[in-house]
Amino acid sequence: MLHSPENALPAPRLGEPYLLTPGPLTTAYEVKEAMLRDWGSWDADFRAMTRSLCDQLLALAGDRDGEFACVPMQGSGSFCVEAMLGTFVPRDGKVLVLANGAYGLRAAETMKYLGRAYTLIDKGDYLPPRGDEVGAALDADPAITHVIAIHCETSSGILNPVAEISEAVYARGRKLLIDSMSAFGALPLDVTEIRYEAMVSSANKCIEGVPGFGFVIARKSELEAAKGNSHSLALDVYAQWAYLQKTGQWRYTPPTHVVAAFLKALELHAAEGGVAGRGARYTRNRDVMVEGMRALGFETLLKDRWLSPIIVTFFCPADPNFVFSTFYDLMKAKGFIIYPGKLTVVDSFRVGCIGRMDEHVMRKVVGAAKEALAEMGVASAAPPAAAIAERAKLAA
Ligand SMILES: *Cc1c(COP(=O)(O)O)cnc(C)c1O
Repeated sequence: MLHSPENALPAPRLGEPYLLTPGPLTTAYEVKEAMLRDWGSWDADFRAMTRSLCDQLLALAGDRDGEFACVPMQGSGSFCVEAMLGTFVPRDGKVLVLANGAYGLRAAETMKYLGRAYTLIDKGDYLPPRGDEVGAALDADPAITHVIAIHCETSSGILNPVAEISEAVYARGRKLLIDSMSAFGALPLDVTEIRYEAMVSSANKCIEGVPGFGFVIARKSELEAAKGNSHSLALDVYAQWAYLQKTGQWRYTPPTHVVAAFLKALELHAAEGGVAGRGARYTRNRDVMVEGMRALGFETLLKDRWLSPIIVTFFCPADPNFVFSTFYDLMKAKGFIIYPGKLTVVDSFRVGCIGRMDEHVMRKVVGAAKEALAEMGVASAAPPAAAIAERAKLAA
């Protein structure tokens, strides 16, 4: 019943292609429609919208005791990561950055811009940072005060073991910050199950809103202690929180339409069964898509254990007739926008599983890939031996 075609989600009404990308992504028509009216940012109606948004996000994070606060922040996700690092890490603090892809490296670059001390564990493209190596790094450097981990590293699609990392961090009395940008709302990050001081996510990922703001969910005691830490006026999470508490308003112009759309997206999220329901649909999307692509001969970069239900990286086929830009154009003409790969060593591309689409759409994606290969004259989607060797070497 649940997976019958009659229950398929409606296709984009304006005929636009599906975005098989990790945000911005395909949103429901009702979400876009919610942006058709204007709101005064100081008005009681909009203040109530902000309050509702924060309350709902705190509930998704499992904050039952009121120990955490939700602070929305204008800008894309990276603005929120920068705001979190600049606000919660004291100027004389030191951060251990756990990287295994572009977003971890971006966090390290942010630390460089902030001019605050950091050290980096760089696992390359494919491997998760494990609890024991985090523990060893913390033991070796008592100056480290904070660790930042990426929940789902969207550049490869790897799902990092944040629970194990959290245990290693708190066993040594340090503090954890999490970039859960592409996971929150579809994968559990319950404050009663995984300890952390603050996490960030944004409107246009698993909650399926449109881009324009992100949010920080942080322990109130950490927010109190963070006063005066920030390097930036606009990105000071403490100041935004304090003003929000005092006035019910964002400090500077909020993206009012985006907030309205996000509230509609939260309504659809709840109707789907919250984090569990959303996660189940994405998991099904991934399973159907990966199985179909493998049947065509494509191979995933990651072993099943680390495959997130968010986005999947495939190796480009070895066949000399395969040209990614042609494949991309053919897929787009068939109604699907895919995503180029971000690996440093071998050619790859990515297919997102998130956004307003279901397994019926994923079957069409596989059908479109099959047609595109045939149109390009690609006989086999098997990757080059070098890609398999690279994967075997790094995963050993
Ligand atoms: C999307 C994303 C970000 C933020 O990217 P923006 O382009 O600034 O929205 C940060 N971290 C991860 C893991 C992401 O997936």
